[in-house]
Amino acid sequence: MTYVVADNCIKCKYMDCVEVCPVDCFYEGENTLVIHPDECIDCGVCEPECPAEAILPDTDPEAENWLAMNTKYAEIWPNITVQGTPPSDADEFNGVKGKYAKFFNPAPGGQELDKKFG
Ligand code: SF4
Ligand code: SF4
Repeated sequence: MTYVVADNCIKCKYMDCVEVCPVDCFYEGENTLVIHPDECIDCGVCEPECPAEAILPDTDPEAENWLAMNTKYAEIWPNITVQGTPPSDADEFNGVKGKYAKFFNPAPGGQELDKKFG
């Protein structure tokens, strides 16, 4: 059992979820996050924290489509445990349908921080 991050996180990336996860199992892409399904303890704490309602339990029929994507990118992207600054246009993209096909960026996140401190 796990929770997964779904389509509506893309380009919203509010990051309220990362601070509440007791096992720090969120990973950061350039414009979305994912949950590592092998690390998630299925506590459900993050689900109501997401302003975009983008976090689903894997019992949700919608979640099936996102499990492979979360599994793949959790292995590639860096771990995130501290809430950063959401995109300035996050609210405009909240609720837009089909964002994965249009906007998904497979690049890892955290690069702004690298630029600042690296
Ligand atoms: S709170 Fe929701 S929209 Fe924000 S990063 Fe987490 S999953 Fe994505
Ligand atoms: S369900 Fe719990 S363990 Fe899983 S990602 Fe959310 S907060 Fe973390």
